[in-house]
Amino acid sequence: MKKNRNQVIRLALGISFLFFSFSATAQLDYVKSIKKIDIHTHISSDDPSLRKVLDELNVKMCTICTKGTDLERMNFQRETAKEITKQYPRYYAWMTTFDLTKRNDPDWVENVKKQLKQDFENGAVGVKIWKDIGMTIKNADGEYIQVDDPMFDPIFEFIARQDKPILAHIGEPIQAWMPPRPGTYWDTHPDYSFWDKPDRPSYSDILAARDHVLRKHPNLRFVGAHLGSLEFDVEELAKRLDRYPNFAIELGGRARYFMWQNRERVRRFFIKYQDRIMFGTDRGGGLIKKNGEKKSETELQENIDGLLKRYDIFLRYFATDEEIPWGDKISSDEPVGDAKYMVKGLALPKEVLDKFFYKNAVKWFPGVERNFE
Ligand SMILES: [Zn+2]
Repeated sequence: MKKNRNQVIRLALGISFLFFSFSATAQLDYVKSIKKIDIHTHISSDDPSLRKVLDELNVKMCTICTKGTDLERMNFQRETAKEITKQYPRYYAWMTTFDLTKRNDPDWVENVKKQLKQDFENGAVGVKIWKDIGMTIKNADGEYIQVDDPMFDPIFEFIARQDKPILAHIGEPIQAWMPPRPGTYWDTHPDYSFWDKPDRPSYSDILAARDHVLRKHPNLRFVGAHLGSLEFDVEELAKRLDRYPNFAIELGGRARYFMWQNRERVRRFFIKYQDRIMFGTDRGGGLIKKNGEKKSETELQENIDGLLKRYDIFLRYFATDEEIPWGDKISSDEPVGDAKYMVKGLALPKEVLDKFFYKNAVKWFPGVERNFE
């Protein structure tokens, strides 16, 4: 009798395991099959091998221009983005940015508007602003310029009137204000490490200025890149999403912060705010490095391999309830060689996956889906 009961239990466990694997596989097949937009990438040039992977993954990438503080680099990015988008509209869309170097010239605002108008005509689906606003550029009095500075108002109003959104990387993860751990981004980029620098703006100063822009410009669609720099707590994000209907967020290579939080809370957050979260990896791509040099064959292959590996993990994490081996790289979503712990996937419902990976990008950045068939 006892033996029988054990057999029954074993059989039941077996069936439920089978069922579990079936549903996980079905969810994974589903998310692989749907169209996906990666709203946050930095593509330096077209790369045919990248396009092949985008076909395999059913992904279109939106490449983002930055560096308003370095005109030459900004314009190089704008030209490249415009070109590859025109040539390969199935694979690439783009977002522009604007010049900050001539911000004290009397005709700065007019020139920025002119440039943005031209970029919109050339297909740009939005405008990126970067953490230099708030963290590095200063006014004539030597104060750090915050994003709610009145100097930006006519530009933001113009963007809203053009019915275009802003993608804003304002601030940094809170770790930027803590002692930089060796090997992390803030260790290798000390300019953006604010640890022990009392003259620099605080984390909350910068985010308060960002929130002030959301109040000042209620008609401006405003998307917080990198989970709006509130990646450590979905409750903090929920407060802003409740307060500001013009605010949405994109992942921007911060999946690990969701993985570190309570799974049920993150899942509830995704379901409640399913119309306002977008997928983005912040991945680079293309044949050229940031410094303008050509990438080697090995570097190109590493980039593709890294992309495939991350997509595999992200799709499993968001779509299935699989246990995913994860590591502890604090400043990157890079999967580490030796997993330190397991993360259980969120198994988001299909409608939520549709919105997160595709529909929300189309809603917040109209035109981003152009030619993606
Ligand atoms: Zn980025």
